[in-house]
Amino acid sequence: MKVLALIDPQNDFVDGSMGVGKEKWAPAYDFILDLLNKGEYDRVILTKDWHPIHHCSFTPQGGPWPEHCVENTPGAEAFDNLEIVADRIILKGKDPDTEEYGVDLLEGEVNDEVDIDVVGLCYDYCVACCAKMTSEAHPKAKVTVYAKGCVAIDPAAEPDFGLATVK
Ligand SMILES: [Zn+2]
Repeated sequence: MKVLALIDPQNDFVDGSMGVGKEKWAPAYDFILDLLNKGEYDRVILTKDWHPIHHCSFTPQGGPWPEHCVENTPGAEAFDNLEIVADRIILKGKDPDTEEYGVDLLEGEVNDEVDIDVVGLCYDYCVACCAKMTSEAHPKAKVTVYAKGCVAIDPAAEPDFGLATVK
């Protein structure tokens, strides 16, 4: 089975409160559309950062980030209505007291022999963390991060991708 995982392709990460900017996102988004248009994937998973208004990661609560991806706000919506391509949507960061950069993208998956390609935002945080958690939880899965389909907050960062391959 081939799975495509779109990590947090949300308005706040594109051009909102934590936006990488539309200029940097445009080539990554084109790359993602190319992957989708090839039609090679059996399933598409989309994750969303989905925070309550008083989330611990926001600066008013002493966290490192400006308010972003507050549940049910336009900033939390997927860029370009990308939800419509997803077979499954995973919401993360819902607990007000817990930072949650990553989730196991294959949680509950019985068949571990999966090829899973990972793209989205942001490369050095949630993409890396999801790839690491998924690759370590499912050693038989082939987890590949496509850097061209991602944008980093800090281009100089050297994130930990666990057992995932980065192309
Ligand atoms: Zn967040």
